[in-house]
Amino acid sequence: MKIKDILRDEEPHISFEVFPPKTDAGYESVLSATEKIAALKPSFISVTYGAGGGTSKNTVNIASHIQNDLGVVSLAHLTCASSTKEEVHQVIEKLKEKGIENVLGLRGDIPDDVQFPVSNQYKYAFELIRDIKSQGDFCVGAACYPEGHVETEHKKDDIENLKNKVECGVDFLTTQMFFDNNILYNFLYRIREKGITVPVLPGIMPVTNSKQMKRICSLSGTALPERFRAIVDRFGDDPKAMQQAGIAYATDQIIDLIANGINNIHIYSMNKPEVAGAIMKNLSDIVKV
Ligand code: FAD
Repeated sequence: MKIKDILRDEEPHISFEVFPPKTDAGYESVLSATEKIAALKPSFISVTYGAGGGTSKNTVNIASHIQNDLGVVSLAHLTCASSTKEEVHQVIEKLKEKGIENVLGLRGDIPDDVQFPVSNQYKYAFELIRDIKSQGDFCVGAACYPEGHVETEHKKDDIENLKNKVECGVDFLTTQMFFDNNILYNFLYRIREKGITVPVLPGIMPVTNSKQMKRICSLSGTALPERFRAIVDRFGDDPKAMQQAGIAYATDQIIDLIANGINNIHIYSMNKPEVAGAIMKNLSDIVKV
């Protein structure tokens, strides 16, 4: 099933995300976590793509397992910054062979100390997305950044670039994580005003590890609101307390989004079925599965 069709439903839906193992040794534990997350009956599960492109086979295989064995719609991420166009085309062919209909087309982060792009590479995600669309009948998602992407100085330019990307065939957008819903509401207002009308899935990150989170936020430019900082400062050194507070904070964000008419929310569940399960339990009368 195509995600764009799921997004037409007016009932609230939750989707989750898993990431593939860096080495084959971790494959079984990722599969086990994925199976537990699939048992929560999310609207779909996305599978990230390793930054260097080296785990592409795992992304395809896990996405295929989710869809073909576990009966849950899957979304395979695909990045292009570390691959040639030919390598990317081969991955698209594999996705087709496995019957995967949904792809998140991304540029990926530019690797350090290499010349980018070289002649047979995509420079931006929109070029990749055009090719994914031309290679098959895929439903294609793309990334967007409510606080602006770190490489583009002015938000208005980032939104212009987003509009161009969407016009290359994007069916839906998923946002970078944010911890203040007002940032999302403001972003939605700005993109709708510019004529970007595709569905937008807010990406919610339940924070369960304070140190990792501070690092990710400083790299991605995500703002940490005072209320969130207080939680991290008070509970950051107590993993169980931090997890409980992080789940409560994420639940609160999700309920506010649903109350404001946003029906599809993506959770960065990071291979943690216990976190995904706790959130679904908190929403049991709000999100019907
Ligand atoms: P693009 O859309 O190409 O944008 C990159 C930058 O280029 C932006 O600043 C944009 O404004 C600018 N730009 C775009 N077009 C133009 C133009 N024509 N002229 C000038 N500037 C332009 N990374 C992974 O490695 N694996 C994953 O699985 C993964 N999943 C992600 C999922 C989501 C929902 C999000 C939000 C991010 C994800 N990322 C992932 C990270 C992502 O790859 C990085 O943020 C990357 O730096 C940008 O990717 P993009 O697809 O948004 O790039």
